[in-house]
Amino acid sequence: MECLRVKLYTPTGIFKNPLSIKGIEVYPLPPYSTIIGLIYRAMGRKWNGEYFQISIQGDYQAIYRDYVWYKKYNLKDKELEKLPLQVPILYNLWLLIHIKASEELLKEMESGLREPKELLFLSGGEYPVKVEEVKRVKCFEKFISEEDNIMLSYHAYIPREFKERISFSGTGEGILFSLSYFYKNSQKPKTYSWIDAYYFPKGTEIYGSVILDEDNNPVFLAQPEVAELRRAEEEYVRFYAGNWLMASACVGVLKVLENAGEDIERYVEEKSLTLPKELWQRLPELYAEYLLKDAEHILRASYEKEKDKSKFNPYNVIILRSLGDFYKNSPFTNPTLSYITKLKGVSIENINQVKNQVKSSFMEGYKYFLSKTVETSQTCFFCHERQAKNYVDATTFTPLFASLETVRNFIWDPIPICKECEFLLYFASAGFYRSAGKYLFVYIPDDLLETYRLNLVLSTKEEIEQEKLGKVLSVVRYVLDLEKQKSSWVLQNIYFVEIEMVGDATANIYSFHISPNLASAIRKLIDKYPKNLQDIFSEFLFYIYTGRSLYEFLFLLLSGFFRKESYENLKDNTIDARIIRAGRKMRYLSPNLLFFINFQEVLNMKEQKDYIDRAFWAGRALKRLYNENEHTQKKLEPLTYRLLEAVRRKDKEYFIHNLIRAYLEVEKEIPYFFKEALDDKNFSMIAYAFIIGLNSEEKAKAEETTNEGEITESA
Ligand SMILES: [Zn+2]
Repeated sequence: MECLRVKLYTPTGIFKNPLSIKGIEVYPLPPYSTIIGLIYRAMGRKWNGEYFQISIQGDYQAIYRDYVWYKKYNLKDKELEKLPLQVPILYNLWLLIHIKASEELLKEMESGLREPKELLFLSGGEYPVKVEEVKRVKCFEKFISEEDNIMLSYHAYIPREFKERISFSGTGEGILFSLSYFYKNSQKPKTYSWIDAYYFPKGTEIYGSVILDEDNNPVFLAQPEVAELRRAEEEYVRFYAGNWLMASACVGVLKVLENAGEDIERYVEEKSLTLPKELWQRLPELYAEYLLKDAEHILRASYEKEKDKSKFNPYNVIILRSLGDFYKNSPFTNPTLSYITKLKGVSIENINQVKNQVKSSFMEGYKYFLSKTVETSQTCFFCHERQAKNYVDATTFTPLFASLETVRNFIWDPIPICKECEFLLYFASAGFYRSAGKYLFVYIPDDLLETYRLNLVLSTKEEIEQEKLGKVLSVVRYVLDLEKQKSSWVLQNIYFVEIEMVGDATANIYSFHISPNLASAIRKLIDKYPKNLQDIFSEFLFYIYTGRSLYEFLFLLLSGFFRKESYENLKDNTIDARIIRAGRKMRYLSPNLLFFINFQEVLNMKEQKDYIDRAFWAGRALKRLYNENEHTQKKLEPLTYRLLEAVRRKDKEYFIHNLIRAYLEVEKEIPYFFKEALDDKNFSMIAYAFIIGLNSEEKAKAEETTNEGEITESA
C-alpha cells in the first residue's frame, strides 16, 4: 500500500480538545482532528465527509508550562474576566504523519501540503508550521520477532486495535487517550467522532505484526469508525475522566461509594469509571447519606448558634454548606426552592427524623434536576457516548462556567452534556479537599485510581505533619515515594488544581505541577530548607509550584534585610510582602540562604554547588578584608546595594565593574574564579552567593548551627 508521509515542524504547540475548556485537557501530540484540520487548510477547502486514515507520531524537545488566559463573563459587573490557567506547551515539535486515502484524495492532499493555500498553524501555537517533507512511501506489513524488536524513534499514538497485534516492552501499557477524529456533521455545532489510542513514548520496543514504511518507520493508521462500536452497553453507565473537572467528580463518586462500603476498584479502569445501572440509580441516595454522615454533630452545633430558631434550616446546614460554592442556584442548592424552604424552622429534637427530611428534600432536588432538559441532537462532550440533554452552565460548576442566558455563543460554543455526566459533576465538591476557603485537587491524567488515592492523602495526613510541610508537599512526598514507572509525560502532568472562592460566583483557579526537576530538587534538598524561615515556607512553595524564580524570592528576602527602614511601614499582605517582612526579621545572613540558590540550580538542571560555595567564600573573604580598617568598613554597605541593584537589573557588566572597584579598594586582584565562571548563565547564581557571603556572619550562631548546610571552606 502507498501512503503520503508528511513531516512537520513547529516551535511551539498546545493540544486540546476541539471543544476544550482551556487547560483542562491537553495531549502529548496533536489529536487527529487537529491534523485533519491542518491538511484541509492546506488544501484550501472544507472536509466533505471523505474517509481516510492517519498515523501520528512526533517528538519534542521540552515541555514548559505557561499561562493561557481563560475568559469568563462576570454577571454582576457585566464584564469579561480573564483568569490565568496553566497549560503544558511543547517546544520544538516535529511530527511524522502518514495518510492512507484514495488516490484522488491523496493527490489533492499532496499538492495542498506542497503549496499550502493558507499559512498553516497548529492549535495553540504562536508560530507557523513548516512542512519539511511531503513524500509518497510504500508501506508493508511485517512480522517482527521478539528478538528483532524495533524501537520507536518518535512518541506515537497507537490505536486500541493495534494492541492485539503488537507487543510492547519496557515502558508499561501506554496511556489511553480518547481523541477526536472526523466531524460527524459539518455544520455548527460541531460533533466529533472519537477514537481510543494509546500514547507510547519513544524508546518503547515493539514486536509482532507491524506496518513499516520504506524507511522502516512504523505506521499506526487509525480506523475512525471503530469509535461507533463503543456505544454504551445497556447495563452500565460509563464516565470518562479525561480532564481534571471530570476526574474530581469521579473521585467524589468513589469517596461516596467507599463510604457506602463498596469495593471501588472494580469500577475503575484506567481513566474510566463504569457503574452498573443498578448502582447508578442508587447514587443520589448514597450521596445524600455521604453528605449526612457527620450531620448530628454539625446540626446540633449550628442549631445552638442560631438565635432565631424559626430561621434554622438543616438542609442549608448540611447540603448547601457542602455544595454551595461549586453549584450556585442549582436544583440542589437554590435556597428558594420549595422542597428546601419547607425545612425552615424544623426542630432538631429527633435527629434521625431531621436527617431523613434532608435526604428526602435532596431526592426531590434530584427529581427536579432530571426534569430540566434542553432539546439537542448533540453527543455529550464529557463521555462522547450518550446523547446530550442540556448545556453546561454556571450551576454545573460555578468556578469555571458562566450562565448561558447571558453568554450563549459569546465565549464558547455551548458545551453539550448528558444528564448522567451532568449529575456526576455534582460530585466534584466531594472530590476536592476543602480547607480555609480553598479547594485543592490532585490530578494524574492517566490513572483514576491513583488520582483517588492521592486525594485521600490530602485529607488523611496527620495534622502535625500538615503544619510543618503544607498539604501539597505531603502529596508530593507521597508521589515521590511511589517511584512509579511513569512516562515523563505523565510525571510532568501530575498537577494540582486549587480553587479559591473570591466572590459569590467568582473564583480563582490555579494549577501547578511537579516537574521532574522539581521532584528531584525536593527529593535532594527540601530537608535543608532554612529553619529560621519556616514562616515563609508556604510562600516558598508557591514560588516553586508556580515556576517563579527563587532568585526573585531571594531578592525580596535580601531587600527586606538590607533596607529594613524603607520597609518599616509595609502593610501589604501579599506573598511578596511576606517575604520582604521575613527578610526584615533576619538579624544576620547565614550560609543556609544558599539553599535557595542550590534549589534553583537543581531546577535549572545545573548542579554547580562548587561554584556556589566558591562565590560565597570569595564574598566572605572580601568582607574580612573590608573589616580590617574603618575606612573600608563603611564602604561595605554601599557596595552591597550596588551589587544587589546589578543583580536586580541582571546587569552583569555593572556587577563586574563594581567587583573590580571593590577589590581595588583593598588592593587585591579579582579572583580568577570570577573570570572563569561569571557568564550569563551563571550570573544570578554566583552574584547572589557572593552577596550572601559578603554580608554573612563570620561565625554561625548556635541556634542556626543545625542548619548550615554542607559548606566547607574551599576558596
Ligand atoms: Zn455524558
